[in-house]
Amino acid sequence: MIVYRTKADLRTHLDRDRQAEKSIGLVPTMGALHAGHASLVSRAVEENDVSVVSIFVNPTQFNDPGDLKKYPRTLDADLQLLQKLNTSVVFAPQVAEMYPRPDNRLFDLGGLDQVMEGRQRPGHFNGVAQIVSKLFEAVNPAKAYFGQKDFQQLVVIRELTRLLEMDIDIVSCPIVRENDGLAMSSRNVHLDKKSRAAAPFIYATLQKAREKKKELDPANLKIWVKEAFEKQAMMQLEYFEIVDDKRLQPVKAWKDKVNKVACIAVQINGIRLIDNLHFD
Ligand code: AMP
Repeated sequence: MIVYRTKADLRTHLDRDRQAEKSIGLVPTMGALHAGHASLVSRAVEENDVSVVSIFVNPTQFNDPGDLKKYPRTLDADLQLLQKLNTSVVFAPQVAEMYPRPDNRLFDLGGLDQVMEGRQRPGHFNGVAQIVSKLFEAVNPAKAYFGQKDFQQLVVIRELTRLLEMDIDIVSCPIVRENDGLAMSSRNVHLDKKSRAAAPFIYATLQKAREKKKELDPANLKIWVKEAFEKQAMMQLEYFEIVDDKRLQPVKAWKDKVNKVACIAVQINGIRLIDNLHFD
């Protein structure tokens, strides 16, 4: 495993691999790696001659400076895990390497960036598009791996790839969960004992809501979820939406011929958690 800090060094290495007709797969991450990330990396290692994992806490996708500051950074442990997973190349640049000057690019993401996470975190997806476009340009992979944990991000990245006219296969990987159902996330380390004990309620509620489809239409199901969270003193529901998996528009009726995904964001004691579940 080789670790690079600069785009130039990374490019030199990958150009050589490309000349040797090796396939390249990319897994973008912000580090603080857990088994969710590991599932993406293992798949990239399996499916490509060369697996590249980037570790970069991207400042432009944080709308809350406090959140950026306290984002966990565990590079040594991350490198150990990536070594065990047989990763070929790690790209771990500093901020100045990725943003030598301010990035003022605005991406037209067709409104996908305006709903749910986009509404709660203004500018978030434009920041994601900035860094992912830079990583795509630096690595130029045949395949790039993203987790369904960040379902809206996955849809946004597909749109971005189209926009950039890059021939990259975006591979969608299932959500990895703790034994009690909580979706793994780098932010889970911030949960204190009580919050951690309460957090599985999020996934449990998504599953119960899917059961309730038989009795309630989408509008009433939204109300049911809202009321379920009102009874939880520790948790604030930011949103619960049932959307189609292409345009992320609200589903009006179960008979609508679209793939339906229920997406949720919840704050527990100031920690923001997201999750989602396919509803058909
Ligand atoms: P992050 O480091 O949070 O930016 O995540 C990097 C990638 O790992 C993204 O594509 C995430 O969707 C994915 N990921 C994070 N958590 C999980 C999880 N629990 N299961 C599957 N993929 C995940």
